[in-house]
Amino acid sequence: MNLHDEIPTLDASKLNGLVAAAQNAALSAYNPYSKFAVGCALLTKKGNIYCGCNIENASYSVTICAERVAASQAILHRDLEWDSMVVVSPERVSVCGICRQFLHEFAPQLRVWSGYLDNFQLVGPTLMQEMLPAAMTLARKPASPQS
Ligand SMILES: [Zn+2]
Repeated sequence: MNLHDEIPTLDASKLNGLVAAAQNAALSAYNPYSKFAVGCALLTKKGNIYCGCNIENASYSVTICAERVAASQAILHRDLEWDSMVVVSPERVSVCGICRQFLHEFAPQLRVWSGYLDNFQLVGPTLMQEMLPAAMTLARKPASPQS
């Protein structure tokens, strides 16, 4: 897909399902320091949905974002072809730089929407490769026989 092509949107019922899943995931946020809950729902091309919430830590830099929690669950299940992601929070925020690099590794074509905890208004979709046009990439080595 060319960056200037119109990004195909997602079926409204699937998109609403992702928003609801992300909003539900935000209820599990571990956010004693910021009190800022974030939820994420990642839809894979197989049709599976993996969710994540932000997990804070007293050592702030150890904190992990909802997007990477959701993506890590998909990776754990070896479900690596990603279609769409919805991220919700009390005020609309964009995916952070660390998460952009993390997600781009697996899915430069990932469509991302951002929205709110308390309604179904969304902004997007935006392609991950558009969010991080100069992502760091390395040549991938051939898979080992064990993988
Ligand atoms: Zn992040």
